[in-house]
Parts: sequence; C-alpha cells; structure tokens
Amino acid sequence: MTDCIFCKIAAGDIPSDKVYEDDLVYAFRDINPQAPRHILVIPKTHIPSAAHITAENAYLAGACFGAIATIAQAEGLDGGFRVINNCGTDGGQTVGHLHFHILGGKHLGERLL
Ligand code: AMP
Ligand code: ZN
Repeated sequence: MTDCIFCKIAAGDIPSDKVYEDDLVYAFRDINPQAPRHILVIPKTHIPSAAHITAENAYLAGACFGAIATIAQAEGLDGGFRVINNCGTDGGQTVGHLHFHILGGKHLGERLL
C-alpha cells in the first residue's frame, strides 16, 4: 500500500523513533504521546484494521503481541501497561494500518474512558 504512512515508516522511507523490529513487526514511539511511554506496534504487512484480521493473517497480529511483551520488558514497564487498538471510524482509528498502542510509564487507572 504505497500511500500508507505506516507502511512507509516500516520501510524506513519516513523517519521514526524505532524501538523494535523483527521480520514481521516494527515498533516506534508515537509522535503525540499520551503517556510517559507511548509506542505503536505494527505488522510490516499492510492490514487496514483489526476488522481485517483473518485466519490467514492472524499470525501477524500474534507477532505484534509477541513483540509487545518484549518491548514492555525493554521499556521497564514491570508494573504493567495498557494495549489499545482503535478500529474504524467509530473506534477512533486515524491511520488505516493496523497498530497497537502500548501506553505505560505511570498508573493509568482502571477506567477505559
Ligand atoms: P489511531 O488514532 O489509533 O489511528 O492512532 C494513530 C496514532 O499514530 C496517533 O496516536 C498518532 O499520534 C500517531 N502517528 C501519526 N503519525 C505518526 C508518525 N509519523 N510517527 C509516529 N506516530 C504517528
Ligand atoms: Zn500500511
């Protein structure tokens, strides 16, 4: 998907503050952090949203979660963290490439909204 900003970030065509990369996954710091630690974890393959996860590509979402555990440990989020996925317009998604937010570095409380 040539006009996707997150595909371009994963390919290194747009600069990012990278925190993790493997064959399937790329992770970088959110440009507008909502917590002391705010990292976006994406599959390198373009998947538009969580609504587009299928039996065939679900391993990419799984790879993201494997990376999330590794990143959280590397970032020192020993006390916990929150993982958020915004899906579609009503879900507040603004970038059309599947991504998981890792938020942490402070006590986030129990309320989601
Ligand atoms: P969402 O609203 O769930 O689609 O989240 C998109 C996130 O991408 C927002 O938190 C933005 O701050 C973040 N974002 C957009 N462009 C960039 C960029 N070039 N580098 C880092 N984060 C970005
Ligand atoms: Zn993309």
